[in-house]
Amino acid sequence: MNRADTEAGALLDELAELVQDTLAWVEWEELRGATSLPRSTAARTPSPLPLAADPSPAVRTPTPRPHTTPARAEPPRPPAPPPRAEPLRPTASPSPPSAAASDAWGALARAPVLTGLPLQAALKVAVGKPGAKERLDAVREVLGDCVRCGLHRERKSLVFGVGDPAARLVVVGEGPGREEDERGEPFVGPAGGLLDAMLERVLGLRREQVYILNMVKCRPPNNRNPEHDELLACRPFVRAQLAAIRPELVLVLGSVASKALLEQPISAVRGQWQELRWPGGSSRVMPTFHPAYLLRKPEDKRLTFEDLKLLKGALGERDPR
Ligand code: SF4
Repeated sequence: MNRADTEAGALLDELAELVQDTLAWVEWEELRGATSLPRSTAARTPSPLPLAADPSPAVRTPTPRPHTTPARAEPPRPPAPPPRAEPLRPTASPSPPSAAASDAWGALARAPVLTGLPLQAALKVAVGKPGAKERLDAVREVLGDCVRCGLHRERKSLVFGVGDPAARLVVVGEGPGREEDERGEPFVGPAGGLLDAMLERVLGLRREQVYILNMVKCRPPNNRNPEHDELLACRPFVRAQLAAIRPELVLVLGSVASKALLEQPISAVRGQWQELRWPGGSSRVMPTFHPAYLLRKPEDKRLTFEDLKLLKGALGERDPR
């Protein structure tokens, strides 16, 4: 082989690697909820997600590997390529996972504590499974005995969520309180009683007919608000839960969930329809006050009642999917 052939071969190898890097980066951005790609490097860094401004080690975006050629310094290089055998987006007739995908899934699910791209890859496989319950169980399996943030230290229970895995409506709260931590179920204290009443009296739904989850799965000490890094560490699982359930509608309760999911305080969006994208789809979102707040400020129940009436109207509409 002459020198020209050798150089051409090296260039082709480099081009193939660049394509692989770019595909992995696009897939990574899609998993994070991006709907379009930035035009320039400057528009791409720092991350567009506000909560990613101070990422914890558990979910930090991988640092791009230094490249020898300046022109190739753009796409971050993942530590391991995500498995490609499972579809990210819901399909009309999902195919069963291949043997190779099952092997990859088994290996990922057995890993002790996944973070970064391997975590995203495992969640992608989980939410690509065919049935809603199977998808949700797979997300729970990836979460495991989670120690990704400091909230694991004082928890009695990891409160994943409860309800119908194929619910049309998902309710998203803030985090478990003392009773929820004791019983391992979200919204079972006084605020939970008010939520049940709101669901039944305004929406005509029992709690078993919806799915209820929190932004953080472990109780913050002394019922304080979850910290930024704790929300960031737990958010991939919330998004994966939504991608597993694929709800038509989401009821967001309170400012913590509103800021974490919608990037807006509840005062700015309460009572106004929002859209929430999760890997593979999106839901219509109605933000309203948290029941715990309404217990302290009952005069605002009237506003929440109006918000729930909008939600009831949407529930009466036919699900286009
Ligand atoms: Fe893990 Fe979420 Fe619990 Fe933190 S709050 S330890 S990220 S499950």
